[in-house]
Amino acid sequence: MSKTKSSECVKVVVRCRPLNRKEESNGPAGGIVKMDLKLGQVILRNPRAPPSEPLKTFTFDAVYDSNCKQRDLYEESVRPLIDSVLDGFNGTIFAYGQTGTGKTYTMQGAWMDPEKRGVIPNSFDHIFTHISRSQSDKQYLVRASYLEIYLEEIRDLLDPNHANTRLELRENPDTGVYVRDLTSCVCKSIKEIEEVMNMGNQVRAVGATDMNEHSSRSHALFLITVECSQPGPDGRKHIRVGRLNLVDLAGSERQAKTGVQGERLKEAAKINLSLSALGNVISALADGRSGHVPYRDSKLTRLLQDSLGGNAKTVMVATLGPAPQHYDETLTTLRYANRAKNIQNQPRVNEDPKDALLREFQKEIARLKAQLNHRKWRNKQKKDGDVWDGDEDTAGEEDYEEKDGEDYVTLEERRLEMETEAIKGDRFLLAEEKQRLLGEKERMMGDLRKEQEATEQLTAKYKAIESKLLVGGKNIMDHTNEQQKILEMKRQEITDQTRTEREIQQQMLVRDEETLELRDTFTSLQQEVEAKTKKLKKLYAKLQCLKTEIKDVNDEHVRSRQELEQTQNELTRELKFKYLIIENFIPPEEKNKIMNRLTFDPEEDQWKFQPLVPSERKSSQMKKRPASAVGYKRPITQFARVAMTMGPTTRYRAENIMFLELDMNPLNISSPDRSSDTDPNQSPSQDSSPTKDRGICKSSSWCQTQKSLLSSSSNGSLVACQTPAVAQ
Ligand code: ADP
Ligand code: MG
Repeated sequence: MSKTKSSECVKVVVRCRPLNRKEESNGPAGGIVKMDLKLGQVILRNPRAPPSEPLKTFTFDAVYDSNCKQRDLYEESVRPLIDSVLDGFNGTIFAYGQTGTGKTYTMQGAWMDPEKRGVIPNSFDHIFTHISRSQSDKQYLVRASYLEIYLEEIRDLLDPNHANTRLELRENPDTGVYVRDLTSCVCKSIKEIEEVMNMGNQVRAVGATDMNEHSSRSHALFLITVECSQPGPDGRKHIRVGRLNLVDLAGSERQAKTGVQGERLKEAAKINLSLSALGNVISALADGRSGHVPYRDSKLTRLLQDSLGGNAKTVMVATLGPAPQHYDETLTTLRYANRAKNIQNQPRVNEDPKDALLREFQKEIARLKAQLNHRKWRNKQKKDGDVWDGDEDTAGEEDYEEKDGEDYVTLEERRLEMETEAIKGDRFLLAEEKQRLLGEKERMMGDLRKEQEATEQLTAKYKAIESKLLVGGKNIMDHTNEQQKILEMKRQEITDQTRTEREIQQQMLVRDEETLELRDTFTSLQQEVEAKTKKLKKLYAKLQCLKTEIKDVNDEHVRSRQELEQTQNELTRELKFKYLIIENFIPPEEKNKIMNRLTFDPEEDQWKFQPLVPSERKSSQMKKRPASAVGYKRPITQFARVAMTMGPTTRYRAENIMFLELDMNPLNISSPDRSSDTDPNQSPSQDSSPTKDRGICKSSSWCQTQKSLLSSSSNGSLVACQTPAVAQ
């Protein structure tokens, strides 16, 4: 499966949006973020710190300030990744940042406005333009899926009927983690894939009561799979599959948990879960020393498992706002992004995977084509006068034109019509004979039509499947002229060059610092002192920077630890409360039954209830009647117990009538299993009552409710009862 295996780092770019109107009106403080586009550096100023405090500088693969256009970011940082996906690599782009900093703007943008189209619509253009310009021996299949993760539940955005169904994650050794039963739409043009995106966006908006709140708390993943088949040097067709994940993450700001309880607390904890799990995964990977990477901690990290430290090329776009009031969040985002730079991925080309849909389609097309050819060949044989006996060798089949089959059908139809006319016009035929012959022709005509219908259906099916495959340079027309293509190529060369320049400058900066001392030669002591003092000052400033950095990191650590402790306390309190309820209000038998049904699902990473009846035997076996809580074979009513003790009197059983000795004295009654026990309240005369003689025993609760009734009733009466309650 692997062709080229090398390791490369996650590319991290940072984008800062312009100050919005509200922030501008807040005062003259201006932005706290400065960017050096040439060096790829972000310089952050702490608005609360004294001016003497050194500024914080972070270096990234590229930075984009508020003047940068959508197209600049795409051309420089995204285009190479999409090219790789088209070559069969896995690719991921995710936007990370605080709510309102431009994640959705970067990923989607205003897609109707060509200037403001984000990464997702631009990648549609890119993919389909590439297909239209590729050689005609290449076949493509493009599929799109759209999902959302909200409160740790996965929702399919392309299946509105199942918008509320939670999807499950599964793992496949070949393709990695995937979502089971996720809808995927085959797209043949930019327009079709844009429709898919819009449909998903609408479902997302409808499902949310407050769109702003919802979108800032949920992760949206748009997945594109591009399968490409091309004949290899061995003459066989080889398939490459590139998977592209376009991820718009939830806002990175911490959800306030102070003071919230119960469901709200769990909700807040779940919202933070995916992002803090993502942070832990990034830290574990960036650290490189810890063996365990906690991918399984959240749905998001499991889905992005390949993108972080696995088989994928990844670009992270960290978005910032320039407003001073968001300094803390901006700093956190920059630190997060800085850590992600160190993640090493091992991307490789996915060649000839077992589950390529394109291969299935190709097989199906070949099968249908063979069937059609066979039919046409058969028709041709008949047309040429051979009688086909249905079992003939088909070795002589060729790729006949559709016209051949049509010719035969029209000719045959005309012939049959003529023959029918001839029979009708034949005056020498007996009426009976005429009828028989006409019937025969009618039947032949019917057979012919059926045959034609079947062929048409087969052709339609064949065409439908074939139309899903895109052939390089054929299905989609590219109207760009040669000059435009050359211009695009030149533009691409320039961006490549800018990128390389920046990389070289960054490397030079690092080397400069290292080799400063080596290059220095001093002519006098004075000069040496001056140079060394300068260097000392520089290093001192660096030391101060690092010290504040350590302090900041420590503070943040303490803060997040306190938050975690608080959540833990709240959750422990809830747990204790639930234990209290279980211990005091739920019978131990019920508790045990529930406990016995619980199993741990390692796939889903959660506890699940086993069904009462194993699902595979559901149809063949009836559900077993549950045993009663008290240990009887089955739940038993007071009425049934009484009836049991009454002995085998069958007379009125069908009518649901109970034969009661209503003159019995209630005080001589004891419970069925303690029939020999003597009731302390019994008087000696009660022992000789007729009921006792006959061994009738009733539970005390029943007898107490009967007390008043029995005292006024007469001997040996019949009590009709619909239910035990009526009898009582
Ligand atoms: P997020 O998805 O991170 O919550 P949005 O993408 O919704 O943030 O952006 C918030 C607002 O800021 C939107 O009105 C958007 O148009 C605007 N915005 C974001 N980034 C930019 C940018 N680079 N240039 C101009 N406007 C931007
Ligand atoms: Mg958003």
